[in-house]
Amino acid sequence: MLSIWERQSFLHADIIIIGGGILGLSTACSIKEQHPERSVLVLERGIFPAGASTKNAGFACFGSLTELVADAAVLGEAKMLELVEKRWRGLALLDQRLGEEAMDYQHHGGFELLTEAQMGIHKHTDLINQLLFSLFQMEVFHSAPSKITEFGFNKEIVKDIVFNPFEAQLDTGKMMKALIAKTHSLGVEILTGAEVDAVHATGVRVEVEVRDGQNHLQFTANRVAVCTNAFLPRLFPQMNVRPGRGQVLITKPIPNLRLKGTFHYDEGFYYFRNYNGRVLFGGGRNLDLDTEATTEFERNEFILNDLKEKLATIILPNIPHEIDYTWQGIMGFGPLKFPFIEMPQPNVFAALGCNGMGVALSSLLGEELAEMITGN
Ligand SMILES: Cc1cc2nc3c(=O)[nH]c(=O)nc-3n(C[C@H](O)[C@H](O)[C@H](O)COP(=O)(O)OP(=O)(O)OC[C@H]3O[C@@H](n4cnc5c(N)ncnc54)[C@H](O)[C@@H]3O)c2cc1C
Repeated sequence: MLSIWERQSFLHADIIIIGGGILGLSTACSIKEQHPERSVLVLERGIFPAGASTKNAGFACFGSLTELVADAAVLGEAKMLELVEKRWRGLALLDQRLGEEAMDYQHHGGFELLTEAQMGIHKHTDLINQLLFSLFQMEVFHSAPSKITEFGFNKEIVKDIVFNPFEAQLDTGKMMKALIAKTHSLGVEILTGAEVDAVHATGVRVEVEVRDGQNHLQFTANRVAVCTNAFLPRLFPQMNVRPGRGQVLITKPIPNLRLKGTFHYDEGFYYFRNYNGRVLFGGGRNLDLDTEATTEFERNEFILNDLKEKLATIILPNIPHEIDYTWQGIMGFGPLKFPFIEMPQPNVFAALGCNGMGVALSSLLGEELAEMITGN
């Protein structure tokens, strides 16, 4: 049985946030920045955040040229631009909150590798640059074929490179540790190892059930934000969120590694970057979409073999390298590319940001979620 002290001091908060990834923590920060008097409790199931936020590639990006052309075709030019602006403003907010040094934010630019079949994309470059001019006040994308030799890519396959000077990279682990520290400093309480099983809105308050070994603890709050990304349907099966697993590998340090920056290949299906003399390489989900539509953290040998083959033949041809290890992360995809906030129950707000670009989008979405949850 719980003591009176436990009941009175640990089980209630004005606002409970479920999920301690970048979105949950950003939301907690935004609430406290605007309303320091409100008590905020984050419940995270992992010992440390165990979702996409600690497993991603650390690209501070807003879309490659081929991706923005595809988005403009599907969403229309205005919506494509709106999405870019949200990502760009989200990155600015993250920077303002944590500072570049704490995240090891590095401005090496972003590069998209084009094959012969993709060279036609250049007919859209001027239009996309014109559309983005209002945000960046200069040309964003331009052709930089000399980089193929500079970085040592396979010239038989890579026929051009599109450079974007505004894209950057950060150290995901440092960013998340800095965000946790910031959240604590604002007076937010974070409980880890706290997996939420169920949420019930009773009218006056919201009950949040947490598994604790054989026991169940019941927390209560006036309002609840659910930021569990691909795991949202476990609490609210009616929510239209699909999981997408991403396979990632990292090499051992490579002496005199030439490539530096964030790289996109095959319309964004593959991505790689330098990290402390290593190459981090992920993607290939499109090869086996059905198997990868899962929340299970398991290796997909077919995709990992494809990554190894592309690494050896396209990215590091003739450069000796060894794979150090691999990991998986789970993304959440909504029906549209846009982030959304829904209310599955009264006083319960569920948000999904990010469709694979949450580093950029989460700070801004957290701000919007904080405004909604603290409003009348
Ligand atoms: C391999 C990979 C590479 C990526 N690369 C990039 C990139 O380079 N740039 C970029 O912008 N984005 C990238 N992303 C996407 C980005 O990481 C996500 O969009 C972002 O981290 C989502 O943040 P989140 O807080 O919404 O979700 P998450 O980080 O998934 O956080 C959800 C949290 O909820 C917790 N949780 C789940 N269920 C419960 C429960 N029942 N009770 C309590 N806690 C629970 C989880 O443990 C987790 O910590 C990548 C994603 C992956 C998987």
